[in-house]
Amino acid sequence: MTPKPAKDTPVDAGRLVSGATAEGDDFERHLRPQQLGDFIGQRQARENLQVFIQAARARDEALDHVLLHGPPGLGKTTLAQIVARELGVSFKATSGPVIAKAGDLAALLTNLEARDVLFIDEIHRLNPAVEEILYPAMEDFQLDLIIGEGPSARSVRIDLPPFTLVGATTRSGLLTTPLRERFGIPLRLNFYEADELELIVRRGARILALELDASGAREIARRARGTPRVAGRLLRRVRDFAAVSGVKTVDAAAADAALQRLEVDARGLDAMDRRYLGVIARDFQGGPVGVETIAAALSEPRDALEDIIEPYLIQQGFLQRTPRGRLLTAQAFAHIGLTAPAGLAGRQLDMLGDDDA
Ligand code: ADP
Repeated sequence: MTPKPAKDTPVDAGRLVSGATAEGDDFERHLRPQQLGDFIGQRQARENLQVFIQAARARDEALDHVLLHGPPGLGKTTLAQIVARELGVSFKATSGPVIAKAGDLAALLTNLEARDVLFIDEIHRLNPAVEEILYPAMEDFQLDLIIGEGPSARSVRIDLPPFTLVGATTRSGLLTTPLRERFGIPLRLNFYEADELELIVRRGARILALELDASGAREIARRARGTPRVAGRLLRRVRDFAAVSGVKTVDAAAADAALQRLEVDARGLDAMDRRYLGVIARDFQGGPVGVETIAAALSEPRDALEDIIEPYLIQQGFLQRTPRGRLLTAQAFAHIGLTAPAGLAGRQLDMLGDDDA
């Protein structure tokens, strides 16, 4: 299996509540559920996959191509691996930016066996020349390659075994239409509910042999930003604090003390989230303000804001995306201890809509 490349961006570096992978996440492999039955939450996606996998197995055919989309850390890679395991086939993984040339993709595809799963993470970042090669490969299991250059160039066609492409993206809106249309099974992953995260935290504690009572599990789950990867990371840090301070069983108070020291607040927001909200509140009176302007003010890449910071703030009702930019809600002002400007509610009513769903 090709190792999963780190997808850290500056905004993420060292960020405890980031959903993106970071160094030291190797333990994630132990926490990864192995079967669809162990996979907690995402009921709709899970149940649909179950049906399609069963049908493909019964017909002895490759499963249709699957597109998983949703914010980082929600279980896209995990689900892709589970799909391969449930189909009883091999799993090969790569990522969009890693496939530089058509030849790289050709090498991957020609090494697949019938019904294998090829996982391409960050598929929205494929080079367009590579993407062109992928279309006939997905549709007709054929590879059209140009060999040589200039007048001696010729095209060759190679038949591929039927395979399943599982693509993962944090932003399905960035996928080209022809690529998106070639996925027969598009599945959206959503932030997890607190009770689902609680089960994930308890399972993680069992695997890490950490004594955690129900109130401790609930506290960590509540503050995990709706994201299993964050839950796993918080759990590990709480374990460190508990070990050093001699706490034997982690309860809500012990978890809270650790999370406070990590600057993860009661709603799961960290310093970066609060900085983001603070800039819009203080410098732009709550907005609307364009994402480019916010990115410049924070010196952070726009992509990172859109992929990592904003989805959770929107889901929590702190932020709205409007055609004229980002707009804070009164709840966001209250959360960071500021008074919302008069007329904020009016601005929201004027601007119902979504600029880039
Ligand atoms: P993504 O590919 O969406 O960024 P991953 O599949 O790498 O996310 O998952 C991140 C971490 O969260 C992994 O350690 C995985 O074990 C854990 N995880 C994700 N989804 C679940 C789930 N439903 N139940 C338990 N753990 C999960």
